[in-house]
Amino acid sequence: MTEDKFKCRVCGLSQFPDLPWGEDGQQPSFNICDCCGVEFGYGDDGLQACLRLRRHWIEVEYCHWSSPKDRPADWDMPAQVRGIPARYKAPRDEESIRIYQEASEPPLSGLAALDAIEKPGR
Ligand SMILES: [Zn+2]
Repeated sequence: MTEDKFKCRVCGLSQFPDLPWGEDGQQPSFNICDCCGVEFGYGDDGLQACLRLRRHWIEVEYCHWSSPKDRPADWDMPAQVRGIPARYKAPRDEESIRIYQEASEPPLSGLAALDAIEKPGR
């Protein structure tokens, strides 16, 4: 995936047009991710390190952005995490997403909002 090389290995945020690990995936930029705050080439060196950081960032920090002003108002956390490059994903990610969603209770939308109208006191 060509677009994967622009994504943070920990949180999945696109760093476009910057390459966190260079064109070949071997030359870390040592920039800081605006989202999860990892330093490319340091905290995200290896799958286990990425998984450990990701779980901490989601389940302990509840996806705090290291640069809060860059967080989109309509930020779609599950979409971003599910878009993490395949090599750096883990089955555990879905559980982390669930924990985050239950902790933050995002505004209802779509069918969930309809459901809430039909069943007040949900
Ligand atoms: Zn990140």
